[in-house]
Amino acid sequence: MDYAELVGLYEALGGMSKRLGKTFLISRILKKAKKDELEQLCLLVQGRIFPVWDERKIGVASKIVVKALVSTCGVSAQAVEVEWRKRGDLGLVAEALLKRRRQNTLFSETLSVKKVFSNLQKLPDMEGKGAVDRKLALICELLSSASPLEARYLVGNVVETLRLGVADGTLRDAIVWAFLEPAIVYDEDSCSIEVEDRDGYNALLGKVQSAFDTVNDWGEVARIAKEEKVAGLLKVQPRIGKPLKVMLYPKAKDVEDAFSIVGRPAAFEFKYDGFRIQVHVGKGIRLFTRRLEEVTVQFPDVVRAVESSVNGKNLVLDAEVIGIDVKKGGFLPFQSISQRIRRKYDIEMMAEKFPVEVHFFDILIENGKSVMEKGFKERRVLLKRVVSEKKGSIRLAEQCVTDDVKIAEEFYERALKAGQEGVMAKNLEGIYKPGSRVGYGVKIKPVMETLDVVILGGEWGEGKRSGWITSLLVGVREGDGFLAIGKVGTGLKELEGEELTFAEVTELLRPLVVSEEGKVVKVEPKVIIEVAFEEIQKSPTYESGFALRFPRVRRLRDDRGVKDMSTLDDLKRLFDQQ
Ligand code: AMP
Repeated sequence: MDYAELVGLYEALGGMSKRLGKTFLISRILKKAKKDELEQLCLLVQGRIFPVWDERKIGVASKIVVKALVSTCGVSAQAVEVEWRKRGDLGLVAEALLKRRRQNTLFSETLSVKKVFSNLQKLPDMEGKGAVDRKLALICELLSSASPLEARYLVGNVVETLRLGVADGTLRDAIVWAFLEPAIVYDEDSCSIEVEDRDGYNALLGKVQSAFDTVNDWGEVARIAKEEKVAGLLKVQPRIGKPLKVMLYPKAKDVEDAFSIVGRPAAFEFKYDGFRIQVHVGKGIRLFTRRLEEVTVQFPDVVRAVESSVNGKNLVLDAEVIGIDVKKGGFLPFQSISQRIRRKYDIEMMAEKFPVEVHFFDILIENGKSVMEKGFKERRVLLKRVVSEKKGSIRLAEQCVTDDVKIAEEFYERALKAGQEGVMAKNLEGIYKPGSRVGYGVKIKPVMETLDVVILGGEWGEGKRSGWITSLLVGVREGDGFLAIGKVGTGLKELEGEELTFAEVTELLRPLVVSEEGKVVKVEPKVIIEVAFEEIQKSPTYESGFALRFPRVRRLRDDRGVKDMSTLDDLKRLFDQQ
């Protein structure tokens, strides 16, 4: 297929705001494509070169594109910069410059989608000496064969800035329209469809979607839909090394509600407060997040743990990674390990500083075969077989199978006491459905209420926290006065980032200090913070007569003053509602 044809689609998509209109345009080009062009086309239609789960990025800086334009169009770098400032988009610059140049030359050959794709795919792997020159050569080769309009989109492809507005759902529908002959009639004028058999149509969409959720690759799904139709889609198997979308869990109100959704008996599990990881054990071990990003490099400690404690070959497992609190025992909240996910350097040092434990809770592929169609109870047996637990590195999710509300509630209490977020309740016969929130499992966690409280004092910290006011005493307003409701330190960060830090709070409080006794500080009640908590309890400890259970600082409410902060009445009202 000529690249010009794709560019035609890009142009048409740019002028089309309606989703069904886009679907139609895409389905038309998919129909025309040859089998071996589908993969490239499905990616390029979304402005991609690599699927979501492939962490490679083209990684070409704008300045390389500027150089390429200098060399292809025979103009100076300044001339390119001037145009760039004027037009604000390098693609438009390329188009304008090529238009001028084309008046004097004929372009050499027709660009094909295949050629463009193959040159673009070579870009990210180039590293080391001479890499810039080789990248430049690949881009120049394309530009010199491009028409001005093609050049505009080529540059967009290279710097990955095409905004085509083609969501996964649109591509899915286009695949159905192109290859599965749905009973619909499309009206080009109004960009609308008439559906003869709604259920049948939805079933086709569902089949394409679930094939995609399993392989995460529209190109592959399109190829199967074209060649093998629905029968082929139903046979799609996940592959080790290619992440699957994870199954999601809707929320249940409480244990009773959970039983009514997932059935009785059910498997209750701790809901760990970490981040989800999909572990692929194939030729090597690879780790993916719930957003399908690969994080193998960031977690060498997890790779080693899996190597030594997971038995069996060709597996895909589902787990939660949690930070462990080496000093106090127990676990750390998610925020403390979140920095490891994107870390690019000092990785071993981070692994040592923020050690983690992996808690496995499901198995999707065993011995190279999908076990997603088996019931959860059976999968748990398989999971137990492959995971050898080792404290401090590899565990199975804590589980309790019961049909008794009281036992389930006690288990839930135990999870909260252990510092976890709540529990999951899972249907024992439920299959594993990638990408969906089907209700084979639900989560139960306490609804966090919040209050805007004033800081009344705190304690000077020690050790790592010296120099900071920690353990903040907070209170609600009652008339013109303030009544303490508890101490809170959780939620404040030690390191600078987007969230509120101890250092920032200390700087706000320092000028307000009215007295200091030992490490205890009292401050003028001026600084308001939002505090979330799980429950309000009656308590003689504080003047208000109440205390907050598991309070955590959410953010500074510098938009609020003492007049519009929470009052004792607000607190009582929340208490009565519990
Ligand atoms: P939420 O993020 O609140 O929608 O809750 C679902 C998430 O809880 C999952 O995506 C997992 O990351 C996490 N999780 C923690 N423990 C478990 C468990 N035992 N089973 C399933 N998911 C769990």
